[in-house]
Amino acid sequence: MLYVSVDGKELRECHKTNLSTLWVDSGAHRIPGRDFVQHVTTRINCLPTAVRVSRGARRSTRDVKCRARCQETETAAHVVQNCHRTHGGRVKTHDALCRVIAAGLRRGGWRVEEEPVVPTREGNRKPDLVCQKDESVKVIDAQIVSAAGSLNEAHRK
Ligand SMILES: [Zn+2]
Repeated sequence: MLYVSVDGKELRECHKTNLSTLWVDSGAHRIPGRDFVQHVTTRINCLPTAVRVSRGARRSTRDVKCRARCQETETAAHVVQNCHRTHGGRVKTHDALCRVIAAGLRRGGWRVEEEPVVPTREGNRKPDLVCQKDESVKVIDAQIVSAAGSLNEAHRK
């Protein structure tokens, strides 16, 4: 029932990505209680956005506009992924995540280039990380994608 609900559809593929939810069980002891509650609130798509708090009879078009005045509907996806108000934090989080991934790969013996410019037929591309170990090369472009679809499909794209 949770996976077919509006709030639960993003969790449908969580069982396929144990690392993405490992912090809930085994990492919780390092996260202060208040932060942990906020992290879980974000993870389960329950941020008190204008759309979420206006459910039912209280909703009107005017009620759901973003509080940052960007004329968008204030959904969790907008706030977390698109809003100008959260852009700086979003970039910092992305960059910090990439540094953690790069450090882990280097400890594992990978040679890692961060944000190299790669010329292609379609123009220059700048993936977050290009990693090489032995005969294997991996290109990592860290992104948050909706789990409402298939995570494998998002990965392939
Ligand atoms: Zn906004």
